[in-house]
Amino acid sequence: MTATVTPATAEQSVLDDAREQLAQAVEVLGLGAEVHAMLVEPRREVSVSIPLRRDDGSVEVLRGYRVQHNYSRGPGKGGVRFDARVDLDEVRALAMWMTWKCALLDVPYGGAKGGVRVDPRNYSKGELERITRRYTSEIAPLIGPEHDIPAPDVGTDEQTMAWMMDTYSVGRGHTVLGVVTGKPIAVGGSLGRAASTSRGVVAIALEALRHLEIPVVGARAAVQGFGKVGRGAARFLADAGVRVVAVSDVYGGLYDAAGLDIAALEEHVDATGSIVGFPGAEAIEGEQVLTAEVDLLVPAAVEGVIHAGNAEDVRATVIVEGANGPVTAEADRLLAARDVLVVPDILANAGGVVVSYFEWVQANQAYWWSEDEVNERLVERMTRAWRDVLHYAAERRLSLRLAATCMAVERVYRAHEVRGLYP
Ligand code: GLU
Repeated sequence: MTATVTPATAEQSVLDDAREQLAQAVEVLGLGAEVHAMLVEPRREVSVSIPLRRDDGSVEVLRGYRVQHNYSRGPGKGGVRFDARVDLDEVRALAMWMTWKCALLDVPYGGAKGGVRVDPRNYSKGELERITRRYTSEIAPLIGPEHDIPAPDVGTDEQTMAWMMDTYSVGRGHTVLGVVTGKPIAVGGSLGRAASTSRGVVAIALEALRHLEIPVVGARAAVQGFGKVGRGAARFLADAGVRVVAVSDVYGGLYDAAGLDIAALEEHVDATGSIVGFPGAEAIEGEQVLTAEVDLLVPAAVEGVIHAGNAEDVRATVIVEGANGPVTAEADRLLAARDVLVVPDILANAGGVVVSYFEWVQANQAYWWSEDEVNERLVERMTRAWRDVLHYAAERRLSLRLAATCMAVERVYRAHEVRGLYP
């Protein structure tokens, strides 16, 4: 479930933003135009047609993509998104960010992303299964445990991953557990994967609050999006004593200055499918959550929600990016001028891909870890990356985003350099 979005007006595209971040990092690192030219272009991309027989017997043709931005440090890795806004440039940007995310957290992957341009809310479960299986068949030559490993993203879930794993495996003639991550536990998923992105976001958010000397207990937070990332983030924040005063989903927003009862809200969402109508909280517009009077803002839906048009109205002291690319490059500049600390997506929401890595390791070894082991290793990796980025940024007087991107780009560049150009 994603939150309401006002598109940024007259701002550059998400791909332009991603390319600009790379250009800045290359400049800070002093790597030059040739390195930029090698890293800015995706290594491989496919665009596939997905003919779907709908439940009423009619045929509709959808469009899907898989982009492998880079695989110098290992197989491609990244989610598959089912969303009406998917296009090739968005997938390219998201794939590039996956390269930096994997490098920053030092998981041995490159970056990739996939997407199908479809609003899954308008399709039955049977139709979604047929879309997933046809899409998987079309991209099958590109994916595999050693090539490129998809995972869930906006609009997809562990059921989608089970269908992808099954379709790929049937084609190979044997079960290949390591071809996707974010699978159900019954077919080689990892304990702790479902909550891992949220757990990582909150681990980083608590570090950021402590860094700013804002007491965690009683701190006020707003969470935009109440899906795979936002819902768990709200729960873990509340568990830590943070007052979650505002939340939104695609249907609307809620506000309660005393702090929302997140456990009760989760029950309401399970019963009704939305946060709307939750008793005991004020109903607000979804977008008002972004400008609520809070210490911490967690945008956990889609890209571009904080833009030049609303960045000046953001009241939070720190923004922790649960989504990929929720703050545009223009908004980044406006927020920096007002000393709002932005913890970038490639650090803040990396918990998902970190546990995806743990899942892939477990599947390839056919040996399973306990949930505590998974969670401990996740939090350890996230806090180490937080400290490293903070240190790097302070030493060089860079924003956290530029510091994180520099660290990642440098690692990818070193892999390129030591492997050499072939032929
Ligand atoms: N879709 C998630 C992300 O953007 C997870 C990717 C993965 O686990 O491969 O990081």
